[in-house]
Amino acid sequence: MKHLLYLSLLLVAIETSAAEPLRIHWIDVEGGAATLIITPSGESVLFDTGMPGLRDPVRIHRHCRDIAGITKIDHLVITHFDLDHYGGAADLAKLIPIGIVYDHGVRPQDVERVGEDYLGFPCDRRLVLTPGDQIPLKQAEGAAELRIDVLAALQHFIEPTDQHPENPRPDYATDQDKDRSHNANSITTLLHFGDFDFFNGADLTWNLEEKLVVPRNLIGEVDVYQTDHHGLDKSNNPVLIKSIKPRVAVMNNGHTKGCGPLTFAALTSTPSIEAIFQVHKNLRPDGETNNTTVERIANTTESENCTAHPILLEVAPDGSSYTVKIPSTGHESTFQSK
Ligand SMILES: [Zn+2]
Repeated sequence: MKHLLYLSLLLVAIETSAAEPLRIHWIDVEGGAATLIITPSGESVLFDTGMPGLRDPVRIHRHCRDIAGITKIDHLVITHFDLDHYGGAADLAKLIPIGIVYDHGVRPQDVERVGEDYLGFPCDRRLVLTPGDQIPLKQAEGAAELRIDVLAALQHFIEPTDQHPENPRPDYATDQDKDRSHNANSITTLLHFGDFDFFNGADLTWNLEEKLVVPRNLIGEVDVYQTDHHGLDKSNNPVLIKSIKPRVAVMNNGHTKGCGPLTFAALTSTPSIEAIFQVHKNLRPDGETNNTTVERIANTTESENCTAHPILLEVAPDGSSYTVKIPSTGHESTFQSK
C-alpha cells in the first residue's frame, strides 16, 4: 500500500513537471509584426507575418525551425491588412505549412488591396474572427488553462457587461483625429494562461484604444502589453496603458519606426510598468531620451546590418510567473503574474 502511494505521488510529480511552459516570441521583422506563441500542448499561433519580400518570411521560418522547434504554424492570425502585417504571409506559406488562417474578413474593398497572393496561398482553412470569438486551442495536461479571446475587430468591440469594471474617462484623456486607416480594423486579442494575461492590440489607434477601457474596462489588468502599433504615437493612448496596468511592455519597433516620444512617456509614467523591452534600439536623435536600458534591447544596429535577434518570453506551466530573455545581451528578468 505504502509503495503504491509513493508510486502515485511520483507519477503526479512527473506529470506536473512534464508540463511545458507557454512561450511568446517576438521575431524581428524590422518594425513590422510577427509574434509567435507556442502553447504547452505544442501548438503554434503566429500573429502577423512581417513585410512582403523574402527577408521576413525567411526570418520567421528560421526562427520556427531553429529556436521554436516547430514544423507547422497551426494558427496564423492576420490582425489587419497593412503590409507590415499580412505582407509576408504568401511567401511564408511556401516555407512552412500553415493550418488555419484567421483575419477580420476580406470585404469587397479589401480584395484588390490584399491581392491574389494573399487570397490564394495554401492553408488548411480560413476563418473570420469577430469580437467574442476564441481561437480554439488544445489544453495541455498539468498546465494552466489557456485562452485567446478576441476583443475587437473591424472597429467592433465585445459587449460590455457588469463583469467589466466601470472606468470613467480620466481628466488627462485627449482625442486624436478619427482613424480612417486599416490600423483601426485591427484584431485585438487577450491571452489568458492561468493568472498570466497578455494584451496584443496590434495597430489599434488612440481613440479606439480608449473605447476598449472607457466607460468600462473590457480588458482588465494584464501582465504583458505589446505596445500597440510598434510604439507609434498615433497609438499607445495613456488611458489604455494606465487602465490595464501592465508590468512589462514589449515594443516591436524598428530602428527608426515606433518608440515615439509620446509612447515612451506614456510607458515610463505608468507606475505599474517595471520593465520595457524593445526589438530595436531607437536610432533617431530622440533616442537619446526615448530608449529602454541597453540590456533590454534585442537589436542595436540599422536594418541593413541587422542580425534579427528575438525577444523571448516564457511563462511557467502553472501561469504563476514569467521570464523575459534577450538572448543577444544575455539579459533575463523574471516577474510574478498578477
Ligand atoms: Zn504595423
